[in-house]
Amino acid sequence: TRTQDEEDLPHATKKTMADHLRKYESLFTLTPQRMRMIVEAFTETLELGLNKTNQIVPMIPTYVFGWPSGKETGDFLALDLGGTNLRVCLVTLQGEGKFEITQTKYRLTEEQKQEDGQKLFDFCAECLKTFVETNIGEGPGQLKPGQSLPLGFTFSYPCSQERIDHGELIRWTKGFGATNTEGRDVAEMFKKSLEKYELPIQLTALINDTTGTLIASHYVNPRTKIAVIFGTGCNAAYMEHVKDIGKIEHLGIDPGAEMAINCEWGAFDSFEHEHLPRTKYDAVVDDTSNKPGEQAFEKLISGRYLGEILRLVICELIDEGVLFLGQNTYKLEKPYCFDTAFLSLMESDPTDELLMIIGIFTHFFALETTLAERQFFRALAMLIGRRAARLSACGIAAIVSKQGYLEEGCSVGADGSLYNKYPGFADRVHEGLQDIFGDKGRYVRHYCPAPSANLVLIFISYDKKQKRRRS
Ligand code: BGC
Ligand code: MG
Repeated sequence: TRTQDEEDLPHATKKTMADHLRKYESLFTLTPQRMRMIVEAFTETLELGLNKTNQIVPMIPTYVFGWPSGKETGDFLALDLGGTNLRVCLVTLQGEGKFEITQTKYRLTEEQKQEDGQKLFDFCAECLKTFVETNIGEGPGQLKPGQSLPLGFTFSYPCSQERIDHGELIRWTKGFGATNTEGRDVAEMFKKSLEKYELPIQLTALINDTTGTLIASHYVNPRTKIAVIFGTGCNAAYMEHVKDIGKIEHLGIDPGAEMAINCEWGAFDSFEHEHLPRTKYDAVVDDTSNKPGEQAFEKLISGRYLGEILRLVICELIDEGVLFLGQNTYKLEKPYCFDTAFLSLMESDPTDELLMIIGIFTHFFALETTLAERQFFRALAMLIGRRAARLSACGIAAIVSKQGYLEEGCSVGADGSLYNKYPGFADRVHEGLQDIFGDKGRYVRHYCPAPSANLVLIFISYDKKQKRRRS
């Protein structure tokens, strides 16, 4: 490698890199005071969404009433259409909070995300068919002829719901753009695909991943009051008193009941951009996305975008003649080529020479780096990752203050690739909460209930209590 003779190429020196870093530090750092201002605006936005329809942060009633008892038993299918993968699972609930999962994962192609929506659901049904044939089949002890399995569909996009097995797609997020789907009932579309493949399956619930995580987390830890997803996208759900959901008062649901709310907080500060600290890189990410103006909060936080933000900073420094002089940088110029997983890797490189960072740049981008540059990249990843975690803390804090959970303390179920795989992300959220709330922030504990816990959503789909409350 060229670490021994760094001097003979016109690379950026340690001094200039440190100067540049200072500039980015001030752009990407969030002070506690700024965070508290964000929390205040966020809290008001959540209130507004509960009381008025068609708000930017829609605060969607899910028709999931109350917590599971932990006594639910039986076999349930779950289908999870996320931002990156499609997962099919069979969950056996054994009561006492215990369960078993068998699952298969399929990676979605870029085409599938953009082509006709019905085709996407057909693909889901096809995967289900293969799964059922391999894992269930017919015969003794298995499915009897004429018997059908209940299926919970985790659909991780904003849908407005009128009942638990219905959901009109408000908008695609996370880069999805499948046609003929926005504004339509995706549960209905999916049922069509199930019929087409003649599957012995009955769709009983359409549910957001945050709602699923909320219920599943509570199943494992009854102190849970909030669930968050920090993955390809970002969002939260929590349990609300029906009496405080002003916009559904006319439905005459028992005001003493509780209902999970899917916040869809990724949309916070969309279009207006009044509250969040957006840099010019964030503005570029937004302008060049398939949904300019939308999901403003999510675009600063979630795994889909962090790598792209870092790439844009690097590209700026290439244009300014600071980085990679004399090398061909075309590979780095492709949008979204810099995966957020690279930020994780860069932050966790344990070597003095930062050998993993050398590897990323030579292997994926055919670029040589100096140690000073690598240290700079790592520091930059830290700034971007830290900002994301601290903004996440602001969202959690908004729900906590709105609900008055600080005094008694509460647990937050958390899931998603960023939360689970990005080094230090969870700790930084924790620090952020303490910066907002002071010492009391310690009592807001977040944890990942179990890998892919959100798949345990399924028992909601069959819980008799749900059915009763629904009518
Ligand atoms: C979607 C949410 C989802 C979140 C996490 C966002 O883009 O709008 O519905 O919960 O991603 O997957
Ligand atoms: Mg997911």
